[in-house]
Amino acid sequence: MNIGFVGVGKMGLPMARNLVEAGHAVTAFDLASAAVAAAVENGAAAADSAAAASAGADVVITMLPAGGHVRDVYGPSDGIIETVSPGTLLIDCSTIDVASARAVAAAARQSGLDMLDAPVSGGVSGAEAGTLTFMVGGEAAAFESARPILAAMGKTIVHAGASGNGQVAKICNNMILGVSIIAVSEAFTLGQKLGLDAKTLFDISSNASGSCWTMVNHAPVPGIVETAASNRDFKPGFATAMMLKDLRLAQQAAESVAAATPMGAQAAALYTLFSNAGNDDLDYTAIIKMIAGE
Ligand code: NAD
Repeated sequence: MNIGFVGVGKMGLPMARNLVEAGHAVTAFDLASAAVAAAVENGAAAADSAAAASAGADVVITMLPAGGHVRDVYGPSDGIIETVSPGTLLIDCSTIDVASARAVAAAARQSGLDMLDAPVSGGVSGAEAGTLTFMVGGEAAAFESARPILAAMGKTIVHAGASGNGQVAKICNNMILGVSIIAVSEAFTLGQKLGLDAKTLFDISSNASGSCWTMVNHAPVPGIVETAASNRDFKPGFATAMMLKDLRLAQQAAESVAAATPMGAQAAALYTLFSNAGNDDLDYTAIIKMIAGE
């Protein structure tokens, strides 16, 4: 298939490479010329605008920083929506606000185009390994058309329902992650201050009612879970800046529907403090350092 790929940064580049390796003809555009050059080194053709990358494509994939960038590249004028041929499938894999995802998909629909929001989890290592999880919002038929394309870049591909629901799934999941790492960090800090060995607490709690995915997979104390970032000086993994971005998107979405998310709000506030102290590039589990007063 001919695939236009817009935004070949840390995530987009390895995703585009996996599409090339799966036999697709990929045409890449990025505002950063170095990113386009890297895509070309990985087998893509270069385009000099988002519209040029999309012209004649069967599928267009975007992987951009935020909602504003996505709204810009798709339209309203000289954008992807205006440029592509009828029948082109549009897939935005960026993590963006729910309102922008729904607005751009509605604009695409008005022009007779199918558009999916398909944010990912799995990070750069998942993008490189082709093992990303895609959470997809949009029409069921469009989802089925997208599945083989997404399968070249990911392992788990889930249809979350109507437009925007991929973004909803992503921010709800990451709000759980943000809240639960804070709970785990508080408990392990308290246990240690009271004289309980962290590994002993882990052995008890991971088999008891306090167990949760974050503790079992990303224990924030070193020497417990071998693959956890705490064992490599909190090198990410999933960076604090990304966690804060997702927690803020969750708060923005919660406000839009008057949902009370007090724990999510508290997590966003704590990650803002941690980020402001210069920790954006540490793994999100490093927040235990702030909680422990280090
Ligand atoms: P990045 O900054 O490395 O890449 C984004 C790219 O988009 C950059 O190369 C930038 O030059 C380009 N860009 C920006 N505006 C553009 C425009 N108008 N036209 C063309 N290109 C433009 O970011 P990333 O880490 O690759 O993240 C991309 C998306 O994936 C974000 O929404 C992020 O939240 C999400 N995400 C990232 C990770 C991660 O671990 N990095 C994990 C999951 C999801």
